[in-house]
Amino acid sequence: MTVLVLADHDLGTLSPATARVVAAVSSLGDVDLLVLGEGVDQIVAEAARLSGVARILVGQDQGFVTQSAEALVPVIARLASDYSHIVASAGAVGRDLAPRLAAKLDIQPITDIIAIHGPGRFDRPIYAGNAIQTVASAQPRQILTIRASAFSPMGDGGNAMIMPLPTDPVRTVAKMIAAHRTQADTPDLATARIVVGGGVSVGSAEGFKLVEQFAAVIGAGVGATRAAVDAGYAPNDWQVGQTGKIIAPDLYIAVGISGALQHLAGIQGAKKIIAINSDPEAPLVKLADIVLIADLFEAIPSLIEELAQR
Ligand code: FAD
Repeated sequence: MTVLVLADHDLGTLSPATARVVAAVSSLGDVDLLVLGEGVDQIVAEAARLSGVARILVGQDQGFVTQSAEALVPVIARLASDYSHIVASAGAVGRDLAPRLAAKLDIQPITDIIAIHGPGRFDRPIYAGNAIQTVASAQPRQILTIRASAFSPMGDGGNAMIMPLPTDPVRTVAKMIAAHRTQADTPDLATARIVVGGGVSVGSAEGFKLVEQFAAVIGAGVGATRAAVDAGYAPNDWQVGQTGKIIAPDLYIAVGISGALQHLAGIQGAKKIIAINSDPEAPLVKLADIVLIADLFEAIPSLIEELAQR
C-alpha cells in the first residue's frame, strides 16, 4: 500500500501537523508527501528531513498560493490511482478539499481520524467528542483527514527523494485578494505543550491580557472560549472547541471557563487539566485533574508574580 499525504504549510514553513500526519499513517505503507505551492523550496527541504517519507512530490504554481480545494484537488485526483490512501490533516485546507476530492473520485471520505487500527479501520469522534465511532471501510481507496493533535510527530532523520511534478497552469474562479499573516509571540495552539485558556469572565479585552501574561510567564499558548471571542476579548483564531481549534497539550489551564460541551470538545486530548474557577460546581471543575477555587483576578496576578521570580 502507498499513502499520499498532502503537506500542510503556510507557504513559508511546513506546519508541525505534517509530521504528526506522517506518523499517523506510517503503519499503512510507504508514504509520499505532496507539496503544492509556489516558492516552497524551504518547505520541501524541511519535509525531506522527515523520517518515514519515501518521496516528496512538488508542484509549483502561483495558482496554489490560495491552497484552495479548487486549485489543489485536480492535481491530487490525477495522482490518486497510484495510492491506497490519500490523506490530509483535518485543518482548514484538508477540511476544504476532502469533500471535493471525494465527490470527484466517488469515494466516501473518513474525516477527523484520531486512531488508525488498520488499512480500513479508523476511530473518529462524533457528537462533539462525546462518543468515539470506529469506522470500517472496504473501499479500495480511502480519503482521510487526520486530527494531527491526536498523534505524536514523526522525527527527523529521513532523506526523501524529491520529484518535481509537471503541472498545467492552475486556473481557478476564486482569486486571492490579500493574505494577512497573524504575528504571534506565543507558541502555536495546535502544538503547544501547555495552553492557558481564558473565558468570558475576564470581563474585557484588557482583562484577557491577564491570561496572556500568565501564558507568557509559563511559555504557554493562549486559547479562549467562544464566549470570550464573541465578546471581542480574544481573536477568533484562539477559539478552542467544537467550532474552534482542537488541541491536545500536555497541560491545559482553564481560567474562568465553565466547561460547556462545545468547549470540552476541543480539549479532550489534553493530558492534564487545571481549572481555576470561582464556582466549585462548574462542569470543568468537576472534570479537571487539579482545581483552584478562586477569583481569577486575585489568583492569576499572584501566580504571575510568584512564577516570574523563578
Ligand atoms: P461561561 O459559560 O459564562 O462561564 C464563565 C465561567 O467563569 C463560569 O464557570 C464562572 O463560574 C467563572 N467565573 C466567573 N467569574 C469568575 C472569576 N472572577 N474568577 C474565576 N472564575 C470566574 N464554546 C467554546 O468555547 N468553543 C466552541 O468551539 C464553541 N462552539 C459552539 C458551537 C455551538 C453550535 C454553540 C451553540 C455554542 C458553542 N460554544 C463554544 C459556546 C459554549 O456553549 C459556551 O457558551 C462557552 O464555551 C462558554 O464560555 P465561558 O466558559 O467563557 O463562559
